[in-house]
Amino acid sequence: MVPPTTTSSRRPAQRRGEGQWALGYREPLNPNERSKKDDNPLNVRARIENIYAHGGFDSIDPGDLRGRFRWYGLYTQRKPGIDGGRTAVLEPEELDDEYFMLRVRIDGGALTTEQLRVVGEISQTYARDTADITDRQNIQYHWIRIEDVPTIWQKLEAVGLSTTEACGDSPRVVLGSPVAGISADEVIDGTPAITEIVRRYIGDPAYSNLPRKFKSAISGLQDIAHEVNDVSFVGVEHPEHGPGFDLWVGGGLSTNPMIAQRLGVWIPLEEVPDVWEALISVFRDYGYRRLRHRARIKFLVKDWGVEKFREVVETEYLKRPMLDGPAPEQLAVPIDHVGVHEQKDGKFYVGAAPVAGRVSGSTLVSLAKAAERAGSRRIAFTPQQKVVVLDIAEQDVPGLSEDLTKLGLQPNPSPWRRSTMACTGIEFCKLAIVETKARALSLVDTLEERLADVQSTLDTPVSIHINGCPNSCARIQVADIGLKGQIVTNAEGKQVEGFQVHLGGGLGLDSGFGRKLRGHKVTSAELGDYVERVVRNFVKQRAEGERFAQ
Ligand code: SF4
Repeated sequence: MVPPTTTSSRRPAQRRGEGQWALGYREPLNPNERSKKDDNPLNVRARIENIYAHGGFDSIDPGDLRGRFRWYGLYTQRKPGIDGGRTAVLEPEELDDEYFMLRVRIDGGALTTEQLRVVGEISQTYARDTADITDRQNIQYHWIRIEDVPTIWQKLEAVGLSTTEACGDSPRVVLGSPVAGISADEVIDGTPAITEIVRRYIGDPAYSNLPRKFKSAISGLQDIAHEVNDVSFVGVEHPEHGPGFDLWVGGGLSTNPMIAQRLGVWIPLEEVPDVWEALISVFRDYGYRRLRHRARIKFLVKDWGVEKFREVVETEYLKRPMLDGPAPEQLAVPIDHVGVHEQKDGKFYVGAAPVAGRVSGSTLVSLAKAAERAGSRRIAFTPQQKVVVLDIAEQDVPGLSEDLTKLGLQPNPSPWRRSTMACTGIEFCKLAIVETKARALSLVDTLEERLADVQSTLDTPVSIHINGCPNSCARIQVADIGLKGQIVTNAEGKQVEGFQVHLGGGLGLDSGFGRKLRGHKVTSAELGDYVERVVRNFVKQRAEGERFAQ
């Protein structure tokens, strides 16, 4: 699709240009835009293969290291031993370790057991056995050396996986239902659309220089956090045309969180890739490129409103109107697929919970073997940092459940293990202020021990999301209890790790952002006591059937 090159008659009155290409602003207005214009970030792959993998860490150009590497899923990880209080005062290069985080994109979260084994073996060989399941269905490694990256790519690509555009100002992994095509409840299977989008557009230089990241999701079920993606296609039945998708745009968290809005259209499965291309093109051409913190599509949708957004999509890009469509009936809470469930073909799937997505390469290799022993060849990761094993005959469910439990992947977890998520945190993330994964683990242990008496009274688990900084990689604003890492003052007046608390956020029927109460902060050491108090108060005061976010 060719971007408009002339100034549009729609040009709104603006005090200052926002760097929108479609309005004629092609000169970069910040260093990120300059870097992308100077050299398409996809070109960095050849330099990694031909220069940096041979020359080692010190041979890497700083512009590639802290910029273009992201287009292949590579970030430098945090140098060990630098405490969170120093995150903001040090220069980026002082925080850089010479090892990398590497993100593998897993579109739709779907893997064969063969792919899973390769992902696990790469971790064992090149990543010190690290592997985290992210809340965007990716796998994230740590301790990667630049020298090993070309070999890792070869191994991934040999089984149809890649790290292309896993990070950067690019079309990131497309979320999909972990149980697409087998769920008895889904309206429609979105897998063909995800496959086609990846085939057509991922790695295409025409879409590799966006104003910022572009997060999309496609599912016939409400299991992809559709309210907080840049664009989401959500299964809905049209009264005349049958199953298709309702389109949501402009969601996002971090600073300035916004819930996505419906465009009010109905899209048949075969048209989803074309509509996705029109949406990403509007973002590329009209998205704001002056200030990084205003560069997500949500700001454009907010300023234009959904009517104008739809009109531009239809008239300038699709060149045809879209059909009006009905809204899907919002579920009370999103589906997480944990536990044992019957598929529509009579087989079963088993969803299991590690704590906050933390697994290891060895666990993933063993998981592939366990799934195959139970007759399965497919697994999927979920947007809640869980894993689902698909296509199990009924008689094999108990054996698989036992194997999963031995691997630390519980198919029948406590509500605390089931609903706690955490981002990468200070262990590896350069932006982090506090520890998150280990904190989640100790919190789950504490709550399982102390709140065993109230577990059975909670109809839906109380979700606890832990972030290591003010960004929202673990979606804190839409958790019942959202914890934003920061340095706080403890009772003795000392500066220690802690959290700003957000209470009462949620997705589904209660979708909205948690309230940030002034001064409502807790130290990391007091976290277990705090959550116990909040949950006991909720249990004591709630009306019958009341959810935490209500
Ligand atoms: Fe890093 Fe902050 Fe994201 Fe956590 S929320 S992974 S600390 S940027």
